[in-house]
Amino acid sequence: MSNRKIRVRFAPSPTGPLHIGGVRTALYNYFFAKKQGGNFILRIEDTDSQRFVPGAEEYINKALNWCGIKIDEGVREGGAYGPYKQSERREIYLNYAEQLVKNGNAYYAFDTAEELNAIRSQYESEGKTFSYNYSVREKLPTSLSLPENEIKERLERGDNWVIRFKMPESEEIIVNDLIRGEIKVNSCTLDDKVLYKSSDKLPTYHLANIVDDHLMEISHVIRGEEWLPSLPLHYKLYEALGWSDTKPEFAHLPLLLKPTGSGKLSKRDGDKLGFPVFPLEWKSPEGDISRGYREDGYFPDAFVNMLSLLGWNPGDEREIFSMEELIELFSLEKVGKSGSRFDPEKAKWFNAQYLKTKSNPELTSLFLPILNSNGINVDKNKVEHICGLIKDRATFVSDFWELSKFFFIAPDSYEEKAVKKFWKGENPQRISELMEVIQKQDDFSSSALEKIVHDWIHEKEYPMGQIMNCFRLCIVGESKGPNMFDICEIIGKDETIGRLEKGIDSI
Ligand code: GLU
Repeated sequence: MSNRKIRVRFAPSPTGPLHIGGVRTALYNYFFAKKQGGNFILRIEDTDSQRFVPGAEEYINKALNWCGIKIDEGVREGGAYGPYKQSERREIYLNYAEQLVKNGNAYYAFDTAEELNAIRSQYESEGKTFSYNYSVREKLPTSLSLPENEIKERLERGDNWVIRFKMPESEEIIVNDLIRGEIKVNSCTLDDKVLYKSSDKLPTYHLANIVDDHLMEISHVIRGEEWLPSLPLHYKLYEALGWSDTKPEFAHLPLLLKPTGSGKLSKRDGDKLGFPVFPLEWKSPEGDISRGYREDGYFPDAFVNMLSLLGWNPGDEREIFSMEELIELFSLEKVGKSGSRFDPEKAKWFNAQYLKTKSNPELTSLFLPILNSNGINVDKNKVEHICGLIKDRATFVSDFWELSKFFFIAPDSYEEKAVKKFWKGENPQRISELMEVIQKQDDFSSSALEKIVHDWIHEKEYPMGQIMNCFRLCIVGESKGPNMFDICEIIGKDETIGRLEKGIDSI
């Protein structure tokens, strides 16, 4: 099987927005496939009509697209193995379910939900747990217990039935996981899972998933750890369908854990703990809104980088990787076995790293609407220059306004602590002198201004730090911000003089 074409699938159920754990699964599949020139397939597993949520499929497509994942085959993209949505493949599955009954690996079960509930309650009252398995399947109304003519009659009459897998009573099942190695399970611990239901003429996840992975010639199944307990059943299904030799290889990814490290990061944690757990904002059919990384101001490349390192690393200390590098470096051998703790602060750190590397024009296009909403209309070149000066101090573009508003609006208050510390003694008088020095200056470029101001301070033997801080107080209103002369160049001579005057009058 080593020469097999690499084909992986991401197979979400459209039961709601994609959680970041699901996005990570999609990314690992994508890296794995692309590194080896394989195909990434998006299959929509919508056989559970009860849990279907409108809008979820579209959300999945948008989220993968935002992350930069290019789907080779899928509902929208098409492909030679379609359809790629299970509800559109419904005719395919019954044959396989019937084949399993014929070859003795599955059986019809006619018990109703009420009957099953009654048996369950009875078991509970006796202190036992009910499991639908070898111990009961011949006592309940199934094709294993009923006479031939009655089975026929019930099927023809249209009674409701399900087809269940006939799990062997006691057999050691050995499965292999690319991350965890060999795992042995005795079949006596497993129940007879439903494979197909006559009520909605649909397969369950287990049958549809195995049939589709086989027909779509999937080479590797890379999915969340929550599916590991299903692997023995899946092995048995491949065997029962005669497909053992071509079954895919399996890799089950470790969980994403809560920031505290205890327990799985759940869909509800975002609202509770104050960070998004979804890539994009999600509006439920009921109108509830859940935050998304995109809307919170994360760059998709920062998000992808951050998420990729939760469960995998290249084996050294590097942390910043482009999509191309992730594809190049990714390997399942370097995926960890234990869960990875999600750290919202680290997510912010990644965004800040990426923000620094964005071009000023790109940042400007994101910042301009924020400026407009604050009533500021300025020249684009000026904004580009400003973006260049502040981007090192920001985590999100939404921080830009607070970091830069003094470029557009003169301060109307002055940081108290800095006033107390610097605006004293002869300093106010010296700032008046500084104003005169600046008044005479025509070349208002940052470097020219810096030279004359510094020369003047040296010549007068004034304390550099104190003077510069008083200067900053007048221009910015507080004691932090980018280089003073860069600021003056941008706001211009008149504004600089005006702010110095105002400062001298009102501080
Ligand atoms: N439909 C399953 C899910 O929602 C797919 C699991 C698998 O990849 O086999 O996670």
